[in-house]
Amino acid sequence: MSQPYKWPIYGHKNQLKFLQETISQDKLANTYLFYGPAGLGKKTVTDYFVRSIFCLSDKSKPCDKCDYCQMINRGTFLDLYKVGDREALSVDNIREFLHKISMSNLSGHRKIAIIYGTETINLFSANALLKTLEEPPANTTIIMIADSIANLPSTVISRAQLVKFKSLVKEDMKAWLENYKFSNEEKETIINLSFGRPGVALRLMADDLEQFKKSSSFILKMMAGGTFYYMQAIDKWFEILKKEYPGYKLYELGNLTREYLDLFEVFLRDILWVKLDRPIVNEIYNKEINALSQKFNQQSLINNLLLINKAKQKLNYNISPQLMWENLFLSIE
Ligand SMILES: [Zn+2]
Repeated sequence: MSQPYKWPIYGHKNQLKFLQETISQDKLANTYLFYGPAGLGKKTVTDYFVRSIFCLSDKSKPCDKCDYCQMINRGTFLDLYKVGDREALSVDNIREFLHKISMSNLSGHRKIAIIYGTETINLFSANALLKTLEEPPANTTIIMIADSIANLPSTVISRAQLVKFKSLVKEDMKAWLENYKFSNEEKETIINLSFGRPGVALRLMADDLEQFKKSSSFILKMMAGGTFYYMQAIDKWFEILKKEYPGYKLYELGNLTREYLDLFEVFLRDILWVKLDRPIVNEIYNKEINALSQKFNQQSLINNLLLINKAKQKLNYNISPQLMWENLFLSIE
């Protein structure tokens, strides 16, 4: 029998296979805990999983055509409950949610209850939840989604069928990115910067890539320019920042420049990687990075990376970020 599941999801092969088999064999667990870092696609998988559970078609699940698929897509399907998707997971929200799913279901069908952002649950909500997990309402499956389980009570974790999501391997990211129009260098950079997390890549692709390029050329100019140039550039930069964000405290202004420090670090590391003959992250600027690598030796690159780390720590304190940046460029070897 051919599988009816056509989920347009890249990566997570074992997880998908496992979930699809539980639907086929009608062996749904009472409680699932889908976990793994944000941006891996846990919500998307949950969406296809849940719609496939209810879908009436036996050829293509979810079919998007049957009554149930259409009701779910319109948000009018009564046996599907969600919490934490738009609202915070407060004790009240959780209690109300648990109360709703404990009521007998009118249709007699299976009920699915999804808890998003379970990692943010507090102890009181967790206790309320635990009671439901210990005595689950009939015919009900609860799916908890969490970016991390480090802070979840072990009593909650142990009640659930765990499904762990991992970063996508490069081939899966590549296959997925085939659906988008970007140059090969851009795709490589997106893959490298998103660490196998499509959600992070999507953010980059939305408009961050343009911002990323702007910030990158800013950093490159600073690295290529002399003392006079970057002192002037930093002056101008902060003049604009102070105008755009009046009333910002020093550390708040500093936070606005934090991504540039990260980016600066990416560049220096890439230059070091060129020297060590390792693949670089920022493929878009391959040429520039190779040219810059002539200017640095290995030890100075390592020293500079350490300087950046120190600068990052300084941003946490209430020091002038402008001074921090000026000192950083003055001490860069
Ligand atoms: Zn359907």
